[in-house]
Amino acid sequence: MTKVYLRKKIAPRIANGHPWIYGNEVDHIEGPVEGGEIVEVYYGPDKFAGKGYINPKSQILVRLLTRKNEPIDDAFFLRRIKEAWQYRQKIGLTENCRLVFGEADQLPALVIDKFNDYFVLQTLSLGMDKWKPAIIQSLETLFSPKGIYERNDVPVRELEGLPQQKGFLSAPFTTRILIKENGLQLYVDVENGQKTGYFLDQHLNRKAIQHIVKDAEVLGVFTYTGSFEVHAAHYGAKSVVGLDISDNAVLQANENAKLNGLENICRFEAMNAFDVLKQWAKEGKKYDVVMLDPPAFTKSRENIQKALTGYKEINLRGMKLLRNGGFLVSSSCTNLVSPEQFIHTIEQAAWDAKKRIRQVCFQQQSPDHPIIPGMENTNYLKFLIVEVTDRN
Ligand code: SAH
Repeated sequence: MTKVYLRKKIAPRIANGHPWIYGNEVDHIEGPVEGGEIVEVYYGPDKFAGKGYINPKSQILVRLLTRKNEPIDDAFFLRRIKEAWQYRQKIGLTENCRLVFGEADQLPALVIDKFNDYFVLQTLSLGMDKWKPAIIQSLETLFSPKGIYERNDVPVRELEGLPQQKGFLSAPFTTRILIKENGLQLYVDVENGQKTGYFLDQHLNRKAIQHIVKDAEVLGVFTYTGSFEVHAAHYGAKSVVGLDISDNAVLQANENAKLNGLENICRFEAMNAFDVLKQWAKEGKKYDVVMLDPPAFTKSRENIQKALTGYKEINLRGMKLLRNGGFLVSSSCTNLVSPEQFIHTIEQAAWDAKKRIRQVCFQQQSPDHPIIPGMENTNYLKFLIVEVTDRN
């Protein structure tokens, strides 16, 4: 087996659990380098570090799968996926959950979302893509799924020299699936929805709005399938208006409201949030709760400042639409903005909007997306509720 020897300086990060090895962190390689193949990694001449897969096309040359000198075979993947499932059972997230969260489950570049009896898969690197048959077999063994769908239609695959593709990995099934969450029913479109079809990472955060929305007039912005908004209506909001720029998202959200008999309370419209919030603030519209869940404003480190400006702008506008003593519910889903930076940005927005804020709750993603210290990409979602009062 090909052996990869690391530069000395790199050892502590790898020893501390980080599974990525960049090309420039390697001292030398013994043996052929074939994309997707399993290699042995060493800290020094004979100090074993682990085994992983290699891809010379990728900036991340090796991703470690194990720290043990064990065979990487079908049984290995079955074991890992079983361990991931056991963890979800321990934390009580089983019906719908992220079954595998890549690096955080020691299965780098693999994502598997479970929507009751259906599974959606992403293999985002060449080395992981090669094991797709073993992964599918593991799911068959552990769950006897009603269906498995591949959502590999994502640009990051191209960095690995892989094509973008989506389709069935099982016998075809109706790709609009019905799920239950916090006592509600929701449609999830695993074929054409965003990412894997539904944002499971906000599961417990949707529950966190339960008390503040009671009898409230609620505005939800960036609603996608309307999950937060339908929750708000379910938890007793007087009225809920939801906005998303995508016609298809609005269609789905209105259907989700109807599915739960909440269509008289919950109404969704296709609009550009940036225009509307400005306009409505000018018109003096007011709400008791404003919820914001924008897309990642940046995917690259160079644009962090721009992203922070975007978050500040949108939150400032949200606050201006609140009645005195109302609540702002605000999310950010990029790991490039840290929790501290995010909270600081909201504080700045409050200052500029001449408001005072009081933190009600700060949470991150649900624990089926565990955060691993030192692995920045696992620490990504910020979810904040603040009470907002006028500053005089
Ligand atoms: N709150 C949702 C997830 C939102 S994802 C949930 O819990 O499922 C972000 C959404 O923002 C996407 O649906 C996207 O269509 C929408 N969006 C992007 N730019 C927008 C804009 N300028 N105005 C309104 N919506 C926008």
